[in-house]
Amino acid sequence: MATELTDLTVAQMRDGLKAKSFSAVELTQAHISAVEAARELNAFIVETPELALEQAKAADAAIAAGNAGPLAGIPLGIKDLFATKGVQTTAASKILEGFVPTYESTVSGNLLRDGAVTLGKLNLDQFAMGSSNETSAFGNVLNPYRGPNGEHLVPGGSSGGSSSAVAARIVAAATGTDTGGSIRQPAAFTGISGIKPTYGRCSRWGVVAFASSLDQAGPMARTIEDCAILLKSMCGFDPKDSTSLDLPVPDFEKALTGDVRGLKIGIPKEYRVDGMPAEIEKLWQQGMDWLKAAGAEIVEISLPHTKYALPTYYIVAPAEASSNLARYDGVRYGQRVAPENASLIDMYEATRAAGFGHEVKRRIMIGTYVLSAGYYDAYYVKAQRLRTLIAQDFEKAYQQCDVILTPTAPSAAFAFGSKSDDPLAMYLNDVFTVPASLAGLPALSVPAGVDADGLPLGLHLIGRKLDEETVLKVGHVIEQAAQFSAKPEKWWVK
Ligand code: GLN
Repeated sequence: MATELTDLTVAQMRDGLKAKSFSAVELTQAHISAVEAARELNAFIVETPELALEQAKAADAAIAAGNAGPLAGIPLGIKDLFATKGVQTTAASKILEGFVPTYESTVSGNLLRDGAVTLGKLNLDQFAMGSSNETSAFGNVLNPYRGPNGEHLVPGGSSGGSSSAVAARIVAAATGTDTGGSIRQPAAFTGISGIKPTYGRCSRWGVVAFASSLDQAGPMARTIEDCAILLKSMCGFDPKDSTSLDLPVPDFEKALTGDVRGLKIGIPKEYRVDGMPAEIEKLWQQGMDWLKAAGAEIVEISLPHTKYALPTYYIVAPAEASSNLARYDGVRYGQRVAPENASLIDMYEATRAAGFGHEVKRRIMIGTYVLSAGYYDAYYVKAQRLRTLIAQDFEKAYQQCDVILTPTAPSAAFAFGSKSDDPLAMYLNDVFTVPASLAGLPALSVPAGVDADGLPLGLHLIGRKLDEETVLKVGHVIEQAAQFSAKPEKWWVK
């Protein structure tokens, strides 16, 4: 029974709970057992089985009383970047170890409001900086898929605990956050779906800030339908976030009509990057063929400033990070390191030196440099101008097309250590995801095929501002055509 329940999609769980085929407590218990059996994946930083069972009991009571919320009894994992009331929140950094928020982030609060069950806090790259989950202070997360020789592979990042847990079927779905690709790239690496909505759709309140003008929360799940269900709960206006959009939230599930006839699918010629593996190129072509067969039209478009997107992102994001992370001073949150007879400055320095990981320090230093008086105009101001040009490229492109199709990442999941010594090679992972982040556009990844080693590959759709519905609709059609059926072998169950 247990394995069967954890295989269901969120939509199937919702239907089964409603039909009383199983209870929320049974469903939650099955997931708690699956989480315990999968500790080798290291997907969780904190497990909260008791809290989950309490929430499940409440969900069962609400279902019996006929007043259950739309997510009643659905067991989720929460990325450990969302502040959770009474449950340690670390952003996978030592500097926040032991920090137990007295408040709930708006997005996780919205999920709880709708009746969700939370199984615990999921591992991630430290402060969401990374593409491989190798920068967490709580250890690497393993991809449930392994390489051709049984070697362990990265689950992508920064939402690597989320992607691993969803793919391993130990949570029904999870929250992720995406600043430059952190929902979409890990989804692609683990054969699941994930959507980053338009900037401003999900409140950032209570989400540990990385780069505030880019950070956006979103769902990660095994189907597009599940993403649509979760996204509806997660979105909504929040006066506590000054960039939150005061707009009605569409019923995203209704957008999944299967009908893409007449839609124009843009293929940006600049995304044919040098050295792209033939398999990715082939999958991209396959995606175009599927959509053409479904009645859409393929049009070539140009996004001429694409080549500046990565350098722009890696100036803007560290600049904002250096400012956001100034608050970790050993006074207000988490860890404090105070050598004997230390001055206040000594304490700050010792705390930050001990608390932050290497990648976080690298970003703080880059960010401080590009914002410093002598270099501000040369780097930061230039990057801001490029950001505007990149956003304008998209605006022009959407005069010719309705949605843009690209690969999600330039490779399948890679082995641990293969890029961790070379930050530039690591940053290249974000080449297809970063432009949409800079422009604040909705974008999703959908599993569309496997490479020669049987590893999942994703296709990526970028939509017009606020047009998650078209992105989800087209993603759903690709999902139907691809019939992606790969499933990781449960080697972690002993
Ligand atoms: N990999 C990118 C980075 O390291 C994106 C991370 C993210 O989206 N949080 O910055």
